[in-house]
Amino acid sequence: MTKIPVVQQILSANDAIADENRAALDAAGALGVNVMASPGAGKTSLILATAARLPAGLRLAVIEGDVAGRIDADAMAAAGIPVVQINTGGGCHLDAPMVRSALPHLLPDGVDMLMIENVGNLICPAGFALGTHVNLVVASTPEGHDKPYKYPGMFAAADVVTLNKADVAAVFDFDFDAFQRGVRMVNPAAPIFVISCRTGEGVNAWVDWLTAQHAVMPRPPKHS
Ligand code: MG
Ligand code: ZN
Repeated sequence: MTKIPVVQQILSANDAIADENRAALDAAGALGVNVMASPGAGKTSLILATAARLPAGLRLAVIEGDVAGRIDADAMAAAGIPVVQINTGGGCHLDAPMVRSALPHLLPDGVDMLMIENVGNLICPAGFALGTHVNLVVASTPEGHDKPYKYPGMFAAADVVTLNKADVAAVFDFDFDAFQRGVRMVNPAAPIFVISCRTGEGVNAWVDWLTAQHAVMPRPPKHS
């Protein structure tokens, strides 16, 4: 009983800073995307595939959240994408203060879209708002079609779902209908894009949807 109020305090402090992050993104005209998935689903591959297909002139930056290392951040930098690495030092999710510390390194450069690769984990990242506009959950066929049933909180928090590795679905006996029913049990509205970052299947439709989300953002005057 006594620990419950402490948890609530931590979450509300995070939410207050998430609101600040949202205001900073809004002021910069940058669409924030919280990219959540289990390890290996293809978060980094999706960000790279998205970057390669964004309309010309739409500037992407990335925050890489990892327990340790900078492998994914190096991949972003190699692709010419501005990136900040956050190492959580063992922590299993990003939180709003971590993102706040990274924003000054990226937003002043005229960013239109900020994709934040969260730590690979289908549980607690959904519980910590970062201030982003879009919660993206990346699922993948090798994980199995039962993931929405086993991690309903994550799929309930999604604004959009991409189902990656569609090209190998048959190898894993992946049941698309069962997956979709599981998502719909907890989330009636989020679009589901079936994609393969390896073959490019379906990625354009996802990028079109994402670009449309940026297009409806309020337009602040850009300062040079
Ligand atoms: Mg990654
Ligand atoms: Zn965590």
